[in-house]
Amino acid sequence: MKWQFKRIGDRILLLVGISVLLGLVGISQFHTQKQENMIVEHYEQTLYFLTRSVNEGLKAIMLAGDANIAQEYAKNLKSIHELKNFTILRLNGLEAFQDNETINEVNARLGEEEFAPRESEQRNPVLAADDPRLARLQASQTQIILRETDPATGIPYMTVLAPILNHKSCHRCHTGRSPVRGVVQMTFSLQFVNEAIREIRDQGLMILAATLAGVLALTLLVIRHSVVRPIGRVTEAMVKVSDGNLDHRVPETSTDELGHMARIFNRMSGDLASVHLGLKNEQEKLSTIILSAREGIVVTNRQGDVVLVNPSAERLLEKNRDEICGQGFLQIIDDPDYLKALLDQPEEEVPSVVVYKGRILNIYAATIHVTSGDRIGSAALIRDITQEKKLEKQLRLLSTTDALTGLFNRRRFDEVMQEEWSRARRYNLHFTLLLFDVDHFKKFNDTHGHDQGDRVLQAIGRVMRELFRDVDHPCRYGGEEFAVVLPSTGFPGAGLAAERLRTGVEALVIDGLKVTISIGVAIHPGVGQDPADMLKQADTALYASKQAGRNRVSFAAGCESAIPESLSRYP
Ligand code: GH3
Ligand code: MG
Ligand code: MG
Repeated sequence: MKWQFKRIGDRILLLVGISVLLGLVGISQFHTQKQENMIVEHYEQTLYFLTRSVNEGLKAIMLAGDANIAQEYAKNLKSIHELKNFTILRLNGLEAFQDNETINEVNARLGEEEFAPRESEQRNPVLAADDPRLARLQASQTQIILRETDPATGIPYMTVLAPILNHKSCHRCHTGRSPVRGVVQMTFSLQFVNEAIREIRDQGLMILAATLAGVLALTLLVIRHSVVRPIGRVTEAMVKVSDGNLDHRVPETSTDELGHMARIFNRMSGDLASVHLGLKNEQEKLSTIILSAREGIVVTNRQGDVVLVNPSAERLLEKNRDEICGQGFLQIIDDPDYLKALLDQPEEEVPSVVVYKGRILNIYAATIHVTSGDRIGSAALIRDITQEKKLEKQLRLLSTTDALTGLFNRRRFDEVMQEEWSRARRYNLHFTLLLFDVDHFKKFNDTHGHDQGDRVLQAIGRVMRELFRDVDHPCRYGGEEFAVVLPSTGFPGAGLAAERLRTGVEALVIDGLKVTISIGVAIHPGVGQDPADMLKQADTALYASKQAGRNRVSFAAGCESAIPESLSRYP
């Protein structure tokens, strides 16, 4: 299994472990090395003195004049276990006391047979005659210490080359030519020194391991207590908060950075809780508004799936929530192209009023963008304006209808005149205006009363509605004056219609009473520069009818050419 050090504690522990290990290894290495050096130095010093003692012993034997004892002395020394080798050399590198060279030389010098020659001789070269160490020994007259390792056993050893100085006392037998007479070579095994060093190293390693374990255990304890557990508590709290438990708090036990972190976390989750509560309240308000709204609301998410349908939407669209969600946003009024156009184009380019399942609906649809510009969904707001439209129609009817007669009123008359004028000009059509006034109506009122007069006016209204086509516009112009706008009417229709009207009213009997009317006719084109002028011309014609004796039809100036012979003319 791969150790990944995912936990902070493990990482800190690893770091501390490595640092402590490096530090301890360094310190222990330093001290061990120092101790090793001390042991070796001490050993070297001991050997120095030992070699000197041996040398002195050798000198004493030599001075006693018995070289054989010196040889025996050397042999005995070799039996010491730690002493690997003991050899006395001459300056030419040959082992001493093995031939008669020195004996002969001394006997020759003394002139007598002082020393008996050896029966058997052998030449045993230990060092080469030109070995630089021999020259160095002669020059320095001090010991040379060499450290080597036995390649066969791997055991280290130390060789001391000590000069045998040529003292005055030696001159009895030897010449004083050279300050050094010979060399004592002693080789000591360093095995026990090595063992001592290894023991020190082992002890050092044990102390190192124990210290490292102690430091790591202590660090682990501190990390657990001061870092891992507080972080764990904050993490646990974060998990709980992210799971929705915003009331969870971390114990604020310490004053260090983690304690500070815990306090900040607690403050943050407290703030979050209050923001969450506020948002929840707002959301509840919003939900209440959405659910109780008279307007239908349908909202999608970013992917276009319907996620909100309020009861009004279900009622207005006459589909349940599942149907709306299942069919999709574009199908809410079963016309995806229309919905798409509403979403894609500016509001004013697409009519927002549609008739759907017998209702007049006002639909507003838009794509919802957040401030960053990202699209987060679409929404449709559906308003039932059936009643409004009905009321609007009624209001419009009221505002354009005369209460007494039920005909269009003066206001509507003005509009109609304008519309017909424009239409006739645009399409090069005729249209006719009949303007009439009840004859001697003042007198009628005076004689039969105002109410009777009203009933007459109502009866005239009925006659007008009966006589004219649906496309015509019968209006009460004011008082007992009336007007009729006849679209697409010129000659002979205009005259015929006027005459039919005149005779129609003449034939009326209301409560045994009768009235007549005088009519002025104006035909477009030909009469008037504009609608007001055309009205004025019609009024002049009406006046002419009055002047001519009443109960008659007169045509305005400008339309004489087509007036039938049977009809009166103006002027
Ligand atoms: P003329 O033949 O010249 O038209 O004589 P006239 O008496 O009809 O004269 P005018 O047209 O000036 O008379 C208007 C009269 O119509 C005045 C008024 O008594 C009557 N009148 C106007 N409006 C109403 C109305 O709403 N109801 C009733 N009953 N009478 C009205
Ligand atoms: Mg009048
Ligand atoms: Mg009148």
